[in-house]
Amino acid sequence: MMYDYLIVGAGFSGAVMAERIAAQLNKKVLLVEKRNHIGGNAYDEYDEHGILVHRYGPHIFHTNSKEVFVYLSLFTKWIPYEHRVLAKMGNELYPVPINRTTINKLFKLNLTTDEEVQEYFESVKEKRYPIRNSEDIIINQIGYDLFEKFFKHYTKKQWNLEPKELSPSVCGRIPVRTNNDDRYFTDQFQFMPENGYTKMFEKMLNHKNVEVILNTDYKSIISSVKFNKMIYTGPIDYFFDNKYGKLPYRSIRFEFRNYKIKDYQETAQINFVDNSVNYTRVIEHKKLSQQSSETTTVSFEYPQCDGEPFYPIPTEENRHQYLLYRSECDTLKNTIFCGRLAEYQYYNMDQVVANTLKVFETKII
Ligand SMILES: Cc1cc2nc3c(=O)[nH]c(=O)nc-3n(C[C@H](O)[C@H](O)[C@H](O)COP(=O)(O)OP(=O)(O)OC[C@H]3O[C@@H](n4cnc5c(N)ncnc54)[C@H](O)[C@@H]3O)c2cc1C
Repeated sequence: MMYDYLIVGAGFSGAVMAERIAAQLNKKVLLVEKRNHIGGNAYDEYDEHGILVHRYGPHIFHTNSKEVFVYLSLFTKWIPYEHRVLAKMGNELYPVPINRTTINKLFKLNLTTDEEVQEYFESVKEKRYPIRNSEDIIINQIGYDLFEKFFKHYTKKQWNLEPKELSPSVCGRIPVRTNNDDRYFTDQFQFMPENGYTKMFEKMLNHKNVEVILNTDYKSIISSVKFNKMIYTGPIDYFFDNKYGKLPYRSIRFEFRNYKIKDYQETAQINFVDNSVNYTRVIEHKKLSQQSSETTTVSFEYPQCDGEPFYPIPTEENRHQYLLYRSECDTLKNTIFCGRLAEYQYYNMDQVVANTLKVFETKII
């Protein structure tokens, strides 16, 4: 069998690319995935207690891109869902991102307007210039005390690095609010796929031109498969046999527990921002899909160095190492690299879909 495209990885990048090539260009695709399922890190499944769980951490769909939303709506219906997160500090819970309620509760204040909250931030913030890292960006906005309470320990647990060792983008992507909006995201489209992500992927890949092989590392079949072009969405360093060294990633160990109670916690996600426990967050899965059930499954997240590559670690040094690999990619005319592992870049799902659609339009058609 001759394939037009060999695609490595059945996450969002690989699946969107396979779908577009098969449906729009009527070309044959072989999609190779080393795990025993499709969906990449967005994979979800029903556990033995009948609860839909996100095996690789909670995946909340949010976007301002109508194009991405309309595209994915070809493969799923949606249920409205707005994510809310609480931070646990000592025995108290506070809304995050930090907002007016957070400040009032924490400091026993009664600020009632955006201006008053902004004045509060102005009174505690410390000027940092230039903004070089994740500590600078937060202290420059809200001062050391709030930084220490909400960012310092959590970030250290998550990355095993101090915020001052990380690029401003890590902590800087979390907003600070002066109003009472307690939603984690403010995007225009905030939904969960009605029957879960895996069902959406199944529909995407259900096409006569797409053949999927699971449990297979592409390197084990590459010499026996005939294809014209390759789309690679796996780790870029692995593709080049780690010739410039292994790129560092942060991983997570997920500990799933089922409790014979209806509700475990106040909201789907609680972040543990102090050092009293060594997990970062606890997710109550049925609150994501709004499933009703007699029991509940939660997952505890323990960040670690080893394991599945989840988060590229955004430091100058790692970026430099990535660019060595990147320069090799440009010499390979028959291989296209896309997705978060191939580009060593943290992307949300909507960004990955948008990028993949763009690569399809500009490099494939
Ligand atoms: C804990 C966590 C929580 C997240 N939460 C959110 C969220 O709430 N909202 C959001 O928008 N985004 C979230 N994301 C980001 C989201 O997971 C990514 O945007 C998305 O999964 C990227 O898709 P991808 O196809 O690029 O990569 P992946 O999903 O990682 O897919 C790559 C696939 O390639 C396969 N592969 C790798 N090497 C090989 C090989 N040698 N041979 C064959 N196959 C291979 C992998 O097994 C994997 O299935 C989260 C990510 C993590 C880690």
